[in-house]
Amino acid sequence: MVSIHSGRWFRFFILMMAAALLLAGCGSQVQETKPIEPKGKVYFTYFDTVSYIYDYSGDSAERFDDRSAETSLLLEEYHRLFDIYHEYAGINNLCTLNKKAGGEALPVDEKLIDFLLYAKEMENLTHGEMNVMLGAVLRLWHECREEASESPSKARIPTEEALYAASAHTSIDLLEIDPEKKTVRISDPEASIDVGALGKGYATEMAARMLEEKGALGYVLNIGGNIRIIGSRPDGTGWKTGIRNPSDPDGAFAMQIYISDTACVSSGVYERFFVAEGKRWHHIIDPDTLYPAATFSALTVITKDSGLADALSTALFCMDYEQSRSLVDSLDGVEVCWFFPDGEQRMTEGFSKLIVKE
Ligand code: AMP
Ligand code: MG
Repeated sequence: MVSIHSGRWFRFFILMMAAALLLAGCGSQVQETKPIEPKGKVYFTYFDTVSYIYDYSGDSAERFDDRSAETSLLLEEYHRLFDIYHEYAGINNLCTLNKKAGGEALPVDEKLIDFLLYAKEMENLTHGEMNVMLGAVLRLWHECREEASESPSKARIPTEEALYAASAHTSIDLLEIDPEKKTVRISDPEASIDVGALGKGYATEMAARMLEEKGALGYVLNIGGNIRIIGSRPDGTGWKTGIRNPSDPDGAFAMQIYISDTACVSSGVYERFFVAEGKRWHHIIDPDTLYPAATFSALTVITKDSGLADALSTALFCMDYEQSRSLVDSLDGVEVCWFFPDGEQRMTEGFSKLIVKE
């Protein structure tokens, strides 16, 4: 269900909600440095997660209400286009494309064409480690996670045979996009799209750019843990953002960083997992092994574009440290902190400069 509540009327209620919910599912969270009360705050639920818009600018109440309503509308549009579980009247979304896999090319909204072209670009950039066509494999893990949550005693993992068979239907080339005709087709009936690794970050970036084009400054978007900051704080400093400790995600932060005018996205083993055969199985699947990636326990990506940050958060997680590091070093303006299962942390030099020293 999609809901939006206008900020000022609900401020007290929302502050209480925020305190309770920020810890639920976010890799990182934004706080005020010296508590500066946001001038406006709105929350809503898209992409099955709680999201916030904070306004620290000098905007009037009316302007904030307009901006947050426009942001909400845009996010709702992406939510519908990216939904793989439901269809909506009048549009062909990802659910429709998956259902019609192997059939005719379908006309889709230009926003979906642009997103899927970007998804292909990210698959290429990440050497296939973030691949939205991994749906057939991810579905097997998803089914086991659902079953485990319904009856933990019967929890199981997918068989190797099933994973291997599904992996034959995951090539990015099975996604056929015709930008002129504005149609998309999945050419293999057993293939499917899953945009869990990229959709939220991309939609967050589109919302941030819309706000930037309209001249917004001093806004913070937190779309289910994908943080995108528009401008800096009114006093010119960055926002203090806590990074979760993957071995104690509900405890004290591993560190805090100052960020402005950028995105901050984390991927971690603690976000979604189930227990079977006495082991934890998390939700980020290495396309090479078809099992949960095992090198890191979490990582945080800081870069201006929230879509790129989201793509990288998943892809870097699926690599070994050397590959992950060399991809980051080949890109401009990308800072990363890697957390290893034994507690070790490594980070780029630029990332270490962001850390709050108190
Ligand atoms: P994130 O939290 O951004 O790392 O995204 C994790 C989600 O992306 C999972 O819940 C899956 O839906 C999906 N996913 C997992 N592994 C991959 C992968 N290697 N490539 C693309 N999507 C993935
Ligand atoms: Mg991601």
